[in-house]
Order: sequence, then structure tokens, then C-alpha cells
Amino acid sequence: MSIATTSPAVLDGIAIAAEIKAEVAGQVRAALAAGYTPGLAVILVGDVPASQIYVRSKVKTCAELGIFSEMITPPASATTEELLTLVATLNARPEIDGILIQLPLPAHVDTARLLEAVHPAKDVDGFHPINAGRLMSGAPAEQVLAPCTPAGIMEVLRRSHIPVAGARAVVLGRSNIVGKPIAAMLINDSATVTVCHSKTRNLGGLTREADILVAAIGRPGFVTADMVRPGATIIDVGINRIETLEEVEKFFPGDSARRAGFEKRGSTIVGDVHPAAFALSGAYTPVPGGVGALTIAMLMSNTVKAARLRRS
Ligand code: NAP
Repeated sequence: MSIATTSPAVLDGIAIAAEIKAEVAGQVRAALAAGYTPGLAVILVGDVPASQIYVRSKVKTCAELGIFSEMITPPASATTEELLTLVATLNARPEIDGILIQLPLPAHVDTARLLEAVHPAKDVDGFHPINAGRLMSGAPAEQVLAPCTPAGIMEVLRRSHIPVAGARAVVLGRSNIVGKPIAAMLINDSATVTVCHSKTRNLGGLTREADILVAAIGRPGFVTADMVRPGATIIDVGINRIETLEEVEKFFPGDSARRAGFEKRGSTIVGDVHPAAFALSGAYTPVPGGVGALTIAMLMSNTVKAARLRRS
């Protein structure tokens, strides 16, 4: 007797992000023809090196797609009041359609107050309670500014023709940035959703029921092969830096390319899913090159959407 096996499909986030960016560039051309240029303001407080890299990449992508962008860099000593004044100025400027506050902010700044000060119509990160509420209440996706990473996941599923309606989805993580909004989006698209967190009992029993498993917990290789239903779609949101050869061998045994990359850079990235678990899946997003690639594309998409909605 022979057992038929098929390799899992790799859901290529880089290719999907390129497709979305090409569409956004077309929408920018339509905006220009209609007499306006979509504009994004990015606020980067202090000098956190990782944040600087993210922000530079956002500004660069704006330039590539024809979106106006402005980077504002208050010092790490900026107070909540000073930042609130800055946000109020940007809220009032007609050529600014989107305001992004790069997180994390210095500990002395009241992050929640600042995020709530962004006008909901310019909230391209989708973090404002008004936009979170619209998402929860099932408003049509084309009218909601939704958080970029979960919105990117939904694009991966849609463009890869993974059925969501009726599917059993299990989300690991309940953050406001990923876990809660992706759960709401999956419910809105008629999946049956279970959300798990650090207090969940029998986690493996739940994950094994998933047709779609979304892992967003920030724990390297947490989801092991025994936690996956064969044939499931695995969306790995985790971005975890590992910095020892022991860990590289644990997650990527015999993978000479990984080892060479690690030896060159002193670290490598692993998701929340153990690479060995992907082999059981029907389809999965790799790390890197999966969900991570989508976030900036969806930010660009949200900026053009915000510009259009403000004028309609
Ligand atoms: P977060 O705010 O730290 O939330 C982590 C969530 O995971 C919490 O709900 C926590 O439960 C849960 N959790 C932690 N340990 C767990 C365990 N052992 N079992 C079950 N649940 C556990 O993280 P986040 O911001 O959502 O990010 C999650 C991961 O996604 C990180 O690796 C992050 O780097 C990555 N990420 C990637 C992108 C991107 O690709 N662009 C964007 C955002 C985040 P409790 O609530 O009970 O504490």
C-alpha cells in the first residue's frame, strides 16, 4: 500500500505584498488624476534602532508608490502634551491623510492617550477605539481602517483561495494589534473562531482542531508538529530573533543556508511555529517572507483608502 503525500504550499508574502503595492500604485495614479496626492505622516519618537529601520522602510515604500510622506522625529524626551499638540496639528492638515505613530513610545509617554488623539479618519494603523469598534461591529471592510498585520493575513488567505467561511480557525494570542483584530476579521468572514492565550487550557487539543491556525504569541517555535491538524493552513505571525547556535540547530537542523546566514549576521529569525510543523500543513506562511512582508503593503493601502474615504 502506498500513502500519497503532497508538499505543503508556501504562501509567499513577498509576492502577495508586491501585488498589493502594484494595485496601490494604480490607486495613487487615480487619486492624482482626481486632483489629490495621498499623504502619510510618520512620527518617530527618540532613536530606537529597530523603529528607525521600520520607519525608513515605510517612507521609502511611500516614495515608490507615489504617496507623499513626512517623517517627524521628536526627541526621546518629548512629553505626552507635546506629542498631543503635534498630533492635533497633523489632524488639522488637509494634505495629511494618514498619521502613524511608531511604537513602542518611551515609557513616560501615555501611548493609549496619544493613539486615541489621532483622528479616526487618519488612523491608518487602525488602533483607534472607533476603528476597532467598527471592525468588531462588522462594518464593510472597504469602509474600515483595520490594523495592517491582520488585514495582510486576510489578503494572504483571500488571494491564496483558502476558504474561510465555515472553517474552524484558532488564533493564538489576544493582543490588540494582531490576535483580537484577526479574530474579528475571521468572524466577519464567517469562520468559527477560538482565541487562545497564556491562560488557555488544553491548547494543543484546540490547535489540533484548526483548519486555519494563526500563531501570534512571540514565542520561538512554540507550535510543534503534534499541535497541528494535518492539512491545516498555518499563518505564522511571530518574529523572534534567535542568537545562539544551539537554537539554530534546534529549529533548523541540517539547514546549511540558515546556518550560513546566522554565522554572517550573528542571529536569525524564527516564527511562533516550529519549522518541522509546517511539513504537516496544507499551506503555510514562512518566516521570514510571509506575514511580515504584508504589513507595510497594507499600511500603504490604508493610507490611500483613508485619503479616498475622507474625500467621499
Ligand atoms: P503581544 O502583545 O506580546 O501578545 C502576545 C499574546 O500571546 C498574548 O495574548 C499572550 O497571552 C499570548 N501568549 C504568550 N505566551 C503564550 C503561551 N505560552 N501560550 C499561549 N498564549 C501565549 O504580541 P503581539 O504584538 O501580538 O505579537 C505577537 C508576535 O507577532 C510577536 O512575535 C511579534 O513580533 C509578531 N508581530 C509581527 C508583525 C508583522 O509581521 N508585521 C506585526 C505584529 C507582531 P496573554 O494575553 O494571556 O498574556
